[in-house]
Amino acid sequence: MKMKGYAMLGIGRTGWIEKEVPACGPLDAIVRPIAVSPCTSDIHTVWEGAIGERSDMILGHEAVGEVVEVGSLVKDFKPGDRVIVPAITPDWASVEAQGGYAMHSGGMLSGWKFSNFKDGVFGEYFHVNEADGNLALLPEGLAAEDCVMLSDMVPTGFHGVELADVQFGDTVCVIGIGPVGLMSVAAAAIGGAGRLYAVGSRPNCVQAAREYGATDVINYREGDIVEQILDKTHGRGVDRVVVAGGDNDTFLQAVEMLRPGGRIGNVNYLGSGDYVRIPRVAWGCGMGHKTIAGGLMPGGRRRMEKLASLMETGRLDTSKLLTHRFQGFDRLEDALMLMKDKPKDLIKPVVTL
Ligand code: NDP
Ligand code: ZN
Repeated sequence: MKMKGYAMLGIGRTGWIEKEVPACGPLDAIVRPIAVSPCTSDIHTVWEGAIGERSDMILGHEAVGEVVEVGSLVKDFKPGDRVIVPAITPDWASVEAQGGYAMHSGGMLSGWKFSNFKDGVFGEYFHVNEADGNLALLPEGLAAEDCVMLSDMVPTGFHGVELADVQFGDTVCVIGIGPVGLMSVAAAAIGGAGRLYAVGSRPNCVQAAREYGATDVINYREGDIVEQILDKTHGRGVDRVVVAGGDNDTFLQAVEMLRPGGRIGNVNYLGSGDYVRIPRVAWGCGMGHKTIAGGLMPGGRRRMEKLASLMETGRLDTSKLLTHRFQGFDRLEDALMLMKDKPKDLIKPVVTL
């Protein structure tokens, strides 16, 4: 049986294609998307060629869907279940998963399968490996649209805060307040940050950052952010930095604004260039105890269920991220192009199918 999907045709080119509906293995599920969202990572992939050439690969890795088929060994899901589908779907039996880094199962970044090694969720159907480990039931009472943010924006933003190891009362700076950084702001606030600086410029994002718990907003277009942070902290800098936007040189700034003993948690996808520079003196000539951690979001059912509980209990409201809502499969292209063009009023588009 054939299905249609919105695909990367090659670097810099996208369009509609037809493909066979994917086959379901014994541990797997075939899912029909109900709500999906494009990601900034799709933009890096297509227009920056960040992961190299791909042809006729269906895009997308953020979805809530309905299970249409499960393999013979799947225990906890059945056709008709409405599920959250994480962007990262590891192989849970791999040695990397046993070592605590399931997102790198099968090789670095290889838990990221959708719209990387295999077709993504912008098709009429898509395949999910290891359904029992990688799907989570959509909680009753939550909107599918809001829960699409659990695929990637929430787990990635929250992981930035985990990587930075934010402690109660820490002074934190979140660089970048697109949808990922906004979820880092929310996570830092929930996790006990003291003063919480958010770096961005788009008015919608600035407003949302304040609502999610930023105490101060810094506009990187109005002067060097290191100077602004040092000025506000009387030269001391911050305990933790979460990097969720900017470019390779943003690292320089993150290291410079960090206090000795501090940590940087990077979740920004560095889409171009061969090297990331670290400023020697600001890094204490190698002795400053400034740790840089960078990571791909962890997937997994248990984690999705835990993050969903933050929404069920009203601690986290993802609906503030959804500035553009589309209806119908044909609008996928419009949503993706919005993500590419990043108009001033955009935080995140969602498409309901
Ligand atoms: P956006 O493009 O929506 O947001 C980027 C933010 O960075 C904006 O707030 C922007 O400000 C700000 N910014 C841009 N340039 C600078 C600069 N020079 N200095 C400081 N801030 C700057 O991106 P998303 O929130 O959608 O995604 C963020 C990153 O996370 C992307 O690279 C994405 O690919 C990556 N990602 C990583 C994942 C992972 O698992 N690690 C998963 C998903 C995404 P402005 O307000 O002016 O727009
Ligand atoms: Zn993504």
